[in-house]
Amino acid sequence: MTPTPAPAPSAVPSLASLAVHAGREDLTDLGVHTMPIDLSTTNPLPSIEAGRDAYDAFAAGERPAPGMTSVYRRAWNPTVARFETAIAALEAHDPGGVVHEAEGIAFATGMAAMTAVLLSRVAAGLPHVLAVRPLYGGTDALLASGLVGTEVDYVDAHEVAAAVTDRTGLVVMESPCNPTLDLRDIADVVRQAGTVPVLVDNTFATPVLQRPLTLGAGYVLHSATKYIGGHGDAMGGVVVTSPARAKELRPIRTITGGVLDPWSAYLLHRGLATLPVRVLAQQATAADLAAWLVGRAGVARVFYPGLPGADPQGLIGRQMAGPGAMVAFELAGGFASAERVCAALSLITHAVSLGGVDTLIEHPAALTHRVVAEEAQPGAGVLRVSVGLESAADLQADLDRALSHA
Ligand SMILES: *Cc1c(COP(=O)(O)O)cnc(C)c1O
Repeated sequence: MTPTPAPAPSAVPSLASLAVHAGREDLTDLGVHTMPIDLSTTNPLPSIEAGRDAYDAFAAGERPAPGMTSVYRRAWNPTVARFETAIAALEAHDPGGVVHEAEGIAFATGMAAMTAVLLSRVAAGLPHVLAVRPLYGGTDALLASGLVGTEVDYVDAHEVAAAVTDRTGLVVMESPCNPTLDLRDIADVVRQAGTVPVLVDNTFATPVLQRPLTLGAGYVLHSATKYIGGHGDAMGGVVVTSPARAKELRPIRTITGGVLDPWSAYLLHRGLATLPVRVLAQQATAADLAAWLVGRAGVARVFYPGLPGADPQGLIGRQMAGPGAMVAFELAGGFASAERVCAALSLITHAVSLGGVDTLIEHPAALTHRVVAEEAQPGAGVLRVSVGLESAADLQADLDRALSHA
């Protein structure tokens, strides 16, 4: 028997270890084992001068220097800051050892995070946004509304280079895309965008499966409400970007007030510890379920990047470590069928949102994508499933029973 060689010692900690330890660096010195929840809305000032200097530092987008007062919770909160440090470490993780300078900026929700990034581009005098459809319904609607001063052009992923103008401040994209889980080549869009930063909404993939900063993205955005929290009980959003862009975003957050509250920051940070375990387990069940759904009576089509032929560009393995834990399928009987299936399920919950420990099913055209323009609407018979931690056998049994009503 040949002995297995010992793994080479590595300077780069694994993502699994980072998930458990990142953002907790100060706990031992504090003499505590878990993150303290600092609920202060205001902080005692050592002197007027110290308060004034802190105000100036926060207005300039800086993080507090050691010993600096946090002044007021809308400007800074240490519980939130620990979560920001942790998610930035995960998104910047590069097993190749390449260092990606990254900072996290957390918000009350994913949409507050998106709003802040758009405002920062408008403030820089670059209001033109290229949006690669399909996008999350809320993002699509925010861009279409022009509410925060952006001017949007919707493009396909291969049309980005031709659509960039000297007023373009941002390219917005997702992969896997919501709700039919098509993959888009992030590195290719980054190449086409040239000097224009690309924002990748990484909510569906999570840093466990995909780290867009390592592919050249300028911003990574999460609805932390989904996989990062992972238990359906906390809302939040986060942007991970370069220190220079983070410096532009922090004052916008302070001014507009879309701050993450410390209770939620604690829950989201705690969620990170189990993120790799949850995502990998949920992905394995999703792969099972997708294969099982193919060819079932009443099911016209299954959307899952891991199915044969579903990833023509070969992005799984290159861009994304696996096909993820979201599955969609189209019922041959259209809307009426979808309605009957949702009503007949008992283990699977009929609800919007995703990324939690329990399996959810929803009808994108009627719900999450209702706000999206007609031409970007998913089919009337499409249902989207966020696969949870239940056993594949139990989920199949529930779906099997429901599909008999399709
Ligand atoms: C939910 C979601 C958002 C918005 O996040 P909220 O926390 O609900 O504001 C943005 N992008 C994607 C892909 C989402 O699923």
